[in-house]
Amino acid sequence: MTAFDTSLKSRRNSVAVDVGGVLVGGDNPIVVQSMTNTDTADVEATVAQVASLARAGSELVRVTVDRDEAAAAVPKIREKLDAMGIDVPLIGDFHYIGHKLLAAHPACAEALAKYRINPGNVGFKSKKDVQFTQIVETAIRNDRPVRIGVNWGSLDQELLTSLMDANANSATPLDARAVMHEAIIQSALLSAARAEEIGLDRSKIILSAKVSQVQDLVAVYTELARRSDHALHLGLTEAGMGSKGIVASSAALGIVLQQGIGDTIRISLTPEPGGDRSREVVVAQELLQVMGLRSFVPIVAACPGCGRTTSTVFQELARDIQDQIREAMPDWRNRYPGIEELQVAVMGCIVNGPGESKHADIGISLPGTGEEPAAPVFVDGQKVTTLRGPNLATDFKAMVEDYIEK
Ligand code: SF4
Repeated sequence: MTAFDTSLKSRRNSVAVDVGGVLVGGDNPIVVQSMTNTDTADVEATVAQVASLARAGSELVRVTVDRDEAAAAVPKIREKLDAMGIDVPLIGDFHYIGHKLLAAHPACAEALAKYRINPGNVGFKSKKDVQFTQIVETAIRNDRPVRIGVNWGSLDQELLTSLMDANANSATPLDARAVMHEAIIQSALLSAARAEEIGLDRSKIILSAKVSQVQDLVAVYTELARRSDHALHLGLTEAGMGSKGIVASSAALGIVLQQGIGDTIRISLTPEPGGDRSREVVVAQELLQVMGLRSFVPIVAACPGCGRTTSTVFQELARDIQDQIREAMPDWRNRYPGIEELQVAVMGCIVNGPGESKHADIGISLPGTGEEPAAPVFVDGQKVTTLRGPNLATDFKAMVEDYIEK
């Protein structure tokens, strides 16, 4: 029989960066991060969203700092979060005038744990170098790391043009897409080299190179990882709405993570109007967990259901248990070390129900259509009881809680 290689490649070596006490890179766990979409100048709304993202499990939260009012709000946001006992590090996202904002608002520079620089609008060349240098010098003075975050939507046009000219005169020209990949990679690497030249330590630099297509992301990060040992922030930009955003991000990041590349991830989802921002945190956690890279929350395995079950009891029970567990996690994580490894199964009929339930730590196989109205429960692979009657769902939830307590 052929043995298939399904193992994760060993983690790429990278220089660890301390972001407000959260270590990114090196041997440290891959960090989940997210970004607010409130107006940062609105202190109350931003505090509420940062708190919600942190409670959902975001280990770093980025806020946009686009004008004086936003910069002035940052220390107030930090203070309120601290008063609430929420110590998640805040990252400032700067474009165009970050150098001015950081200079005019030293309390903002102090309250932020990291500054994001976009070399496309605060570049390392010509007049933009002054802006870049000022931000890097502020980071050095405040002992803060930076993320040099290249984005193909705002790629350094001077660099792209010079590479395209060189390519046009080359004896073996690359196709336009490959030139763009090279421009993205060089923008990140040359900016990092410039930051180091100014005096920023290598352990204070994280790189990202975001694109919006899966194959571009895989190509760019594979090459960026090969050419540098900086910690890497992974994310597919403009991934899209709903299932498309989730699928595209998971496909792209999954391939790169499987190669051992990536030290922190953000899943950028366009929220539905009124939708919950913390969904991107849940998706990022689930991606890392299903890949076996980290564990955050007990997994509830549920079958998809089919014509063998006409009742929705098992779907409702699976969803209730997953919600109940997610809600209780902040408390359970402290009370029950290792709880995130727990596996629960909620299955719809006798075909796969008992088998899947035996593989889980605790599982229930609900009766399908035409089956005896009885639901065997399995704990640690052994059948321990059979639940019946209208309270079956409540009884099973109580058994899950009992199991966790024990
Ligand atoms: Fe259908 Fe039963 Fe399989 Fe669930 S376990 S998908 S109900 S056959």
